[in-house]
Amino acid sequence: MRNKIYCEVCRIAFIHKGEVKLNQEVECAVCGAELKIQALEPEIKASRFIDDPATEINRRAENFARLRGYTFNEDKELVLEGLVDKLNMYGDFYCPCRFENIPENVCPCLETRMNEVRKKGHCY
Ligand SMILES: [Zn+2]
Repeated sequence: MRNKIYCEVCRIAFIHKGEVKLNQEVECAVCGAELKIQALEPEIKASRFIDDPATEINRRAENFARLRGYTFNEDKELVLEGLVDKLNMYGDFYCPCRFENIPENVCPCLETRMNEVRKKGHCY
């Protein structure tokens, strides 16, 4: 069974293979965000559910790196702390290395989701 799930983090729908149940935890196949199924009708609705910001962004980053086959550099902890600071100040995990707090810059940012790491060797 193929279920289309919209990710509220990266704003892209992905296909989840297999059954989907209420309250099931799923991982976005694009950005690695962990989501919980909130509704099945009229369409599948999934939302972020991890209460602790540090845990949420760490798991998202780990998932994304695993999905893409990336490894972290020595700045990982610093960047994750910066992401939590951005959430506390501006309401979402905007990239701490970027000035603009816009949806495209929510980690993993659009550039990174579009494979910039392969070209540059690292994220922004
Ligand atoms: Zn996503």
